[in-house]
Amino acid sequence: MSENKDQKFVYDFTEGNRDLKDLLGGKGANLAEMTNLGLPVPPGFTITTEACKVYLASGEAPAALRDEVSAHLAALEAKMGKKLGQSDDPLLVSVRSGAKFSMPGMMDTVLNIGLSDESVAGLASQAGNERFAWDSYRRLIQMFGKTVLDVDGELFEEALDEAKAAKKVAVDTDLDAADLKKLVTRFKKIVAKQAGREFPQDAREQLDLAVEAVFNSWNTDRAKLYRRQERIPSDLGTAVNICSMVFGNLGPDSGTGVAFTRDPASGHAGVYGDYLQNAQGEDVVAGIRNTVPLADLETIDKASYDQLMTIMTTLETHYKDLCDIEFTIERGQLWMLQTRVGKRTAGAAFRIATQLVDQGLIDEAEALQRVNGAQLAQLMFPRFDEGASTELLGRGIAASPGAAVGKAVFDSYTAVKWSRSGEKVILIRRETNPDDLDGMIAAEGILTSRGGKTSHAAVVARGMGKTCVCGAEDLEVDTKRRRMTVGGKVIEEGDVVSIDGSTGKVYLGEVPVVPSPVVEYFEGRMHAGADDADELVQAVHRIMAYADRVRRLRVRANADNAEDALRARRFGAQGIGLCRTEHMFLGERRELVEHLILADTDKERDEALSALLPLQKKDFVELFEAMDGLPVTVRLLDPPLHEFLPDITELSVRVALAEARKDANENDLRLLQAVHKLHEQNPMLGLRGVRLGLVIPGLFAMQVRAIAEAAAERKNAKGDPRAEIMVPLVGTVQELEIVREEADAVIAEVEAATGTSLKLSIGTMIELPRAALTAGQIAEAAQFFSFGTNDLTQTVWGFSRDDVEASFFTAYLEKGIFGVSPFETIDKDGVGALVRSAAQAGRETRPDLKLGVCGEHGGDPESVHFFHEVGLDYVSCSPFRIPVARLEAGRAAAESKGSDSR
Ligand code: ADP
Ligand code: MG
Ligand code: MG
Repeated sequence: MSENKDQKFVYDFTEGNRDLKDLLGGKGANLAEMTNLGLPVPPGFTITTEACKVYLASGEAPAALRDEVSAHLAALEAKMGKKLGQSDDPLLVSVRSGAKFSMPGMMDTVLNIGLSDESVAGLASQAGNERFAWDSYRRLIQMFGKTVLDVDGELFEEALDEAKAAKKVAVDTDLDAADLKKLVTRFKKIVAKQAGREFPQDAREQLDLAVEAVFNSWNTDRAKLYRRQERIPSDLGTAVNICSMVFGNLGPDSGTGVAFTRDPASGHAGVYGDYLQNAQGEDVVAGIRNTVPLADLETIDKASYDQLMTIMTTLETHYKDLCDIEFTIERGQLWMLQTRVGKRTAGAAFRIATQLVDQGLIDEAEALQRVNGAQLAQLMFPRFDEGASTELLGRGIAASPGAAVGKAVFDSYTAVKWSRSGEKVILIRRETNPDDLDGMIAAEGILTSRGGKTSHAAVVARGMGKTCVCGAEDLEVDTKRRRMTVGGKVIEEGDVVSIDGSTGKVYLGEVPVVPSPVVEYFEGRMHAGADDADELVQAVHRIMAYADRVRRLRVRANADNAEDALRARRFGAQGIGLCRTEHMFLGERRELVEHLILADTDKERDEALSALLPLQKKDFVELFEAMDGLPVTVRLLDPPLHEFLPDITELSVRVALAEARKDANENDLRLLQAVHKLHEQNPMLGLRGVRLGLVIPGLFAMQVRAIAEAAAERKNAKGDPRAEIMVPLVGTVQELEIVREEADAVIAEVEAATGTSLKLSIGTMIELPRAALTAGQIAEAAQFFSFGTNDLTQTVWGFSRDDVEASFFTAYLEKGIFGVSPFETIDKDGVGALVRSAAQAGRETRPDLKLGVCGEHGGDPESVHFFHEVGLDYVSCSPFRIPVARLEAGRAAAESKGSDSR
């Protein structure tokens, strides 16, 4: 880091403003903003993040800093009419860290800097209050010892408790000057012993040490980890604020408080906050004494209260948002110590955004920036009634939010059977695998005793929007005996359990659930205009309308059947971006697939395919009807065939037993051979996707025919089918060309036979690095690309998802290698770069190439912004995520419009 000669390292509060967060940090920028608004802020100055950067790079503060601080300190002293630490009337200051982003691990504020054995007497006589002076001094030694000199804070707390106990009082305010004086002596001894040095008596030394400690706190382990996870650059540095002290601990006419300009839970305007008389700094939030509601300040000190209300209105109008505030009253004089845009609940975020629009403070585009998809998702889950009494069984990982209640079942088959007869069930497994899919669909929720946030259960449940608690290690799941044990307690099949996917808690018995009004609204069961529609639903309705109005990205659903398609439509889907056909090959149809695989002759194969054709066709007719007038992208068969065959071990055992009994079943023997033949070391990279279509004659042709015939049938029924045929796992244009030729021929045949013109488009998934790298060539044969970002992430990283998530992702997340799994949020630099360049190359070849994404990233807020930015036409996600994707697409559009016009 080179030092620029004219660089200024210190800014007076009067010199900054709220846009200088990079330089002055959030706290400093807002202190300056309030100062310049004419609000009563104690004078002070800010050391810039640039100074911190120099310190971090070189181990020393910039040479100019000391003089600059001296100059600003001298100006401050002149303004206040007293000098820092002056023995008969000391100026005292606080030293407060403040980076651009607030983050854990940064240094706590040190108050009352400037007090010493000498100046404490001066403070006492000036204030006419000896107790106050000694109280301030003991606080300084305590805070300075703990945060600057690294003394264990507990030691001070213990000494304080002992002093209270010795005097038989409960609270610190009951200690008098003499007690506090003794405590100071005690504290100084603690410092000397623990820090190996005396508490510094020189005021400027106190100040300089505190500033340096703030610089150093940038690199605490906690701060470093947080930055890595949140992708906050590690070289931003922190600013340091030096602020003249005001005192809330001068007696009952003084105090300190926190306030919100409106209720952070409901968004309603009103008086929200806490106040504590005769207290300093964090006392109000530390729970050391009982605070009073802010409204009581009106009776305690009406003038200050009125002034505070006016200031709160000023701040809210100025920041155009809910602000939170720290203030102190010193003998009837109100001082503002901090403000920032305040945190709020998800529900309040939506309500506040629309309230501010109604007040004319913000426009619709800005309202969209005040909410986000994660908040919307949170509002869409049902919850357990908070008042209910519960019996906690254990706790796992909150893998997929929501609240689910049902009878415990331990296998997929029972889950399906019971749910068919109207029972609600919770599927409990050690961990789940693809065979559990039917059971997972049938269950209200999924509970596993193994696996993390990225286990099969967690990922699939999230995709389905189904409640899931995974990795609840206290539970011993015994699927054979159909029960689980928890600390000696046995839960049998049929016992009722409740799981909370937002907290990871598992309860015995039924905990009452309240449905999400927001989902009722999306489902069309509640109307935003209805009399009983609550404020939240109205706010969500309005925000969604803003988002839909501005967004450029269209939103489609990943849906395989009419039921999901209809739900997706209600949720606002503009088509289906991914219809997986493999689900249509399961269940009773699995046998037909076996016939296909076992076919020795063309005739046998044709028979197997012809048996599948009408079934496939029927599925498509239903789907096209549900999505009439909207595009439906059907993906041809993708998974390796062995997934449709019996399990290799099970079958081997069956055959071996049969042989032992000398009644071997011919079919089983052939199946076993096929299973052996199709067995792959790494099925993910094996015979699947387009490769299947190329080596199994007639398979893709049958699927294409089913699609075409279904479309023709819908057409002839005056429908408006808009099917798109998608070929999976293409790596090179030649593969696609061959499939296309065959498909075109089949479509032409169906058109001729049915007398229709179908206008089916054919495109491909881009899910292999080679496909992305040769996208320009592939676009010659493809009318659309759909980025399969799940497989693309696997193949770009060389990760087999099911393996890596279970084995080392937790370690990677803990070490901060990713802040979030690349399967949840798109890895922009790697996978994303390929998406970007493939989109570009594809469009160069074919300007009207339609571009979409159908990986799970299509419903992930951050990823949606990325897809907007790289110019895709649509994202496709699970039906439940559609509102989130709509909202984020709107936010992305509003944001990029905003930055264009700026
Ligand atoms: P944090 O970032 O943890 O909120 P702050 O710097 O805001 O830390 O300070 C901690 C507490 O000390 C707050 O209650 C704040 O209002 C109070 N405080 C900070 N500076 C002063 C000051 N100059 N005079 C009085 N109280 C102060
Ligand atoms: Mg604060
Ligand atoms: Mg794929």
